[in-house]
Formats: sequence, structure tokens, C-alpha cells
Amino acid sequence: MVVVLRPGSSPEEVAQVAQTIRELGFSAHVSEGLERTVVGVVGSASGRDEVMQALLALEAVERVVPVGAPYKLASRAHHADRTRVRVSADCVFGGDAFTVIAGPCSVESEEQIVATALAVRASGASALRGGAYKPRTSPYSFQGLQQDGLQYLAAAREASGLAIVTELLDPRHLETVDRYADMFQIGARNMQNFELLKEVGRSRKPVLLKRGMSATIEEWLMAAEYVLSEGNDQVVLCERGIRTFEQATRSTLDLSAVAVAQQLSHLPVIVDPSQAAGRAALVAPLSRAACALGADGLIVEVHPDPPHARSDAQQQLRFDQFAEMMRDVQHIAEMLHRLPR
Ligand code: PEP
Ligand code: MN
Repeated sequence: MVVVLRPGSSPEEVAQVAQTIRELGFSAHVSEGLERTVVGVVGSASGRDEVMQALLALEAVERVVPVGAPYKLASRAHHADRTRVRVSADCVFGGDAFTVIAGPCSVESEEQIVATALAVRASGASALRGGAYKPRTSPYSFQGLQQDGLQYLAAAREASGLAIVTELLDPRHLETVDRYADMFQIGARNMQNFELLKEVGRSRKPVLLKRGMSATIEEWLMAAEYVLSEGNDQVVLCERGIRTFEQATRSTLDLSAVAVAQQLSHLPVIVDPSQAAGRAALVAPLSRAACALGADGLIVEVHPDPPHARSDAQQQLRFDQFAEMMRDVQHIAEMLHRLPR
């Protein structure tokens, strides 16, 4: 970062700025101009925020201009090669792959999840989703089958061979969910649950990190930084729509965020058109758009009987609707030389 001092700062003030920088473990590079002095601050990412706050508290400092992003490990500038995240032999995100996760919003029974797993696999999905622990706005809504749900997911993996993606809501569930999941989903509502991010960072299991519904792209990448900084580089980002003034859709799918995140980060970025749209009829068009845009994959809600679903009934696709959507998306993926997997 660069510190811009007020015009006419005294040599003592310049020295105080340099000393503050050094005291916090950074090196200071003073450059005196005709009217103003600027000081370059060089050092690692940790402590960056403290030094910035300390400098802004000094009378002589007019501005502190950050150079580069506050995230390092998630940044493409520090990691030119695109990361590939390997969930199983048949489920890899990044590179040329276009990878689809599909399944119900919630696991409701063994029959429901096994039937869905077989149907989505037949249409080309590489992983099965299904919430066992559900983050619901109301405490009176269905909270998920929890442990039983995890067992039904294991049965569905056994029957289909698909990798399992399921949400981890709380660090206290980590050990249990870890036994069943091949990839942890961190939901939009937990994107800034920093203790949860650190816990999945310490595990070595791939993480699907949803963007918070009011999070900026920078905050989303900082959330990924939490996971990466604990040593887990197997992170897939997921854009799932943000809150805007628009009421016609549940959320506004921010497709530009996908392209921006891919430019700023080496991590794969996928799209959840189901949570964004909130309506089944919009899921196929949004999926086609996401694929054409260059997203690395999709996570789509699919249910054997959507009107009877216990959560998100309006936005789940029937098996036939998912099969048709997959045919179109696969054409687009092939046109862009991506390998559907
Ligand atoms: C979900 O995938 O069912 C879900 C709750 O997602 P999000 O965290 O994006 O709302
Ligand atoms: Mn849902």
C-alpha cells in the first residue's frame, strides 16, 4: 500500500509514519516529491489491516491507497495456473471440465434420494446434492432429516457411484458430515461464518463456497481466503444470486460476478440457477447462460415430485426437465470445447 501524506508534513511527521510502519513489521520506502511525500509499505498480507488503521489515525496521513487485493492465496496474481478441484475420479471442477451437481434441495427419504441420484446420473450429472441439515429462514420450517439424511445420501452414493455434496451448517457437525460428504457445501447464509470457514480449511475435503446474498465479490474471495489460509486449496466458488430491488425472481443471478471472479481468482466458479431464480421455469435459461458465459459448472435442484417437496418446491426440476436442460447445456459446453463430466 502507499501512504500519501498531507502537503507540508514536517520531517518529524514523516519519520513518525515510517516508524509506525516498521513497528508493525513492515518496511517503509519514503519518496519525497516537490509538494508531498509518499511512503510505500511493503510486507505480507497479515497485519495489513492493522497498519492501515494505525496510519489513518496519524494526523499527517491524508490517504492510504491499497495496492493489490486483500486476498493473496485466492488471487490469480499469486497463482497463475487455474486450480482443479477433484472431488472424485468422475467429479472434477476447473480446467476444461463443465461439471454438474444435481439433486433435491433436501433429502426427504431413501427412495427419494436414490431415485434422484440414478436419474441425474443418467442425464450426465457428476455429483449428487441434497441437504441433510437445512438453513431455513423460519425455525418452524422443515430443518432436514439430519443424521438420517446423511445415511440416505450414503445409500444413494452406493447405488449411483455419484459423489455427495451436502451442506455443513455448524462446526459441531463437522465430524459427522465429514463421514458422509465428498464435498462440504458452505451456504450463502454462512459465507462469513469465519469459524466454520477455518474448520473446513483445516479439513482436506473439497469445499463448495456459496456467495452470500449481500456479499461483494471481494468479501466472497476473502471468505475463500479463510479456507485457503488454513491449508485447504480445494475450493469451488458458487454464485447463487444476490439481493436487489427486483422482486420477479427470488434473487438476481449476478452472472458478471462469475466472469469477474474467474478473472480475479484461480478457483473454479460454478452457478446455482435454482436458488437465484426461485422458479423452475427459469432454471434452464439461466443454466444455458451460465454455461455460455464460461462458468465451470452448475448446481441444480432436481426432485422426483417437486410439488410435494419439503423445501424449495417451486424451483426444483422434474427428472424430464433436468434431462432436457442437460442436453442443451452439453451442446453449449461442447461448442466451447468444454468436456461435460
Ligand atoms: C441450498 O442449496 O439449498 C441453499 C440453501 O443454498 P444457499 O445457501 O445458496 O441459499
Ligand atoms: Mn434449496
